[in-house]
Amino acid sequence: MICDIHVHIGRNVPPFVGGSDAVADMVARARLHGIERQCISSLGNTGYLVNPTLDEVREANDHVLEAVAAYPDTLLGFCYLNPRHGEAALAELDRCLRHRGMVGIKLWIACKATDPLVDPILERAAALGVPVLQHAWLKTVGQMEFESTPADVAAMGRRHPRATIIMAHLMGAGYRGILDIAPVPNVLIDTSGGDPEAGVVEFAVRHLGAERVLFGSDAPGRSYGVQLGKVLAAQLTAAERDLILFGNAERILRR
Ligand SMILES: [Zn+2]
Repeated sequence: MICDIHVHIGRNVPPFVGGSDAVADMVARARLHGIERQCISSLGNTGYLVNPTLDEVREANDHVLEAVAAYPDTLLGFCYLNPRHGEAALAELDRCLRHRGMVGIKLWIACKATDPLVDPILERAAALGVPVLQHAWLKTVGQMEFESTPADVAAMGRRHPRATIIMAHLMGAGYRGILDIAPVPNVLIDTSGGDPEAGVVEFAVRHLGAERVLFGSDAPGRSYGVQLGKVLAAQLTAAERDLILFGNAERILRR
């Protein structure tokens, strides 16, 4: 059993111009790689929306709800939220979580992880035991306007020690990003972002513990096979590998 913690869908967003058939195709392709569970979110139906309106967030989440209902044994949903919507973002979270199979929250780059705007969402996530998948990347070419670095996510984790935060993109964090989150035990990391690079997964396991590393592909932006290769080729014990591929997801998605 393998669980992919970081997958996107999107109506009319490449390569999803085929509508729901593309979701069926993703489920089938993942299964060919032994990936039986996928945690999906949508960043919008008309493109990857950095600062979506409330209607755009609802439409994106409706698509996820539809996909999760169609593949209840395979797909789990993460609800996309824009922290700039304040109370309405919490209401959208409640709406999504009323549905079976909705298990997490996705935050992207509407605002930085250091912005107090995210605090009500993190407080609710902690109270409900729902993990937050927070985008992060550390770039030498400069960040996008409200794009969080691993240090920003570490700060978020320190403000909300009871929340479980999965920081996206191990390869975007790199060695420095891993060390940034290392002292904050409630911040985990997914293995997505970039191509495989020898030693990085091992470095994460050494500094965070295998309990804080989860397999994520960021498909369809990346391919399942190449992303799985990062974990399968890493020098790990069987127990560490199993935690990364499934055990950690099972623990934190218990809801
Ligand atoms: Zn992603």
